[in-house]
Amino acid sequence: MASKILILGGTSEASALARHIAGDERFEPLLSFAGRTQNIPAQPVPHRVGGFGGIQGLRDFLKRSDFAALIDATHPFAAQMSTHAAAAADAIGMPLLRLERAGWEKQEGDKWIDVVDMDAAARALDITPRRVFLTIGRLEVGSFIAAQQHDYLIRVIDDFTPPAGLRSRVIAARGPFTVADERQLLRAENIDIVVSKNSGGDATAAKLVAARELGIAVIMVARPVLPVVVTLDSVDAVMDWLARIHEDASTRRGE
Ligand code: NAP
Repeated sequence: MASKILILGGTSEASALARHIAGDERFEPLLSFAGRTQNIPAQPVPHRVGGFGGIQGLRDFLKRSDFAALIDATHPFAAQMSTHAAAAADAIGMPLLRLERAGWEKQEGDKWIDVVDMDAAARALDITPRRVFLTIGRLEVGSFIAAQQHDYLIRVIDDFTPPAGLRSRVIAARGPFTVADERQLLRAENIDIVVSKNSGGDATAAKLVAARELGIAVIMVARPVLPVVVTLDSVDAVMDWLARIHEDASTRRGE
């Protein structure tokens, strides 16, 4: 009997795991999206879209469909979902694993200003008006209302209307981006400073290389603190963990 696995997604890691697990007869995966972006790319496994209704909602969902394990492969900044996953799994004794990419490390030549959150990033922009490249998604753009002296270029996946009062232009684009394209963008837009979350991964790292080459500073927002759970950073390692979960479940059922 196949083991049902719920994968909390919205990341390239979750999609990579879905590709690995697809067609593996030991598992019956379900990939879950919050529904933040308009077009979900085609997936190799069944998927669902939308929140669960908090910790209780997730608990009920996991129990109702008799899942064998929960994989939290959400983005490192999706702190609420990861917190809910840890609480729900703990409450019902469900095996939980976090799949998380490593963060970016500062390299020689980088001019990073490390800050703890988005409000601190807005404060770190200084008084002098600058041309700022915001690559932080759309949800926390409101923090920069506190720094209206600047002129913002905001890159998001889906077009949106920025908060009133912010001098800004929005460009909608989905990575991966190349270093050449990022270099061209930073130059053409006369960017003085970049604001980025420390998301890690390859898809959006090119902006950091381009900024380093051009001597442009980057305000780097640190990852939020998440509940401590077993965490792996490779899909292969997650597959090994899942294989053990499946063997245990099969043994318990006497298969
Ligand atoms: P969040 O603040 O941690 O979560 C807010 C609520 O959205 C959760 O409580 C949950 O609603 C719902 N939710 C989040 N992820 C979900 C998922 N995979 N499946 C079903 N419901 C989910 O999350 P966020 O920062 O807004 O991110 C939303 C999604 O975008 C995540 O799946 C994440 O992987 C992806 N993403 C986020 C970022 C980022 O910078 N934050 C970047 C790239 C991709 P209920 O409480 O109702 O269950």
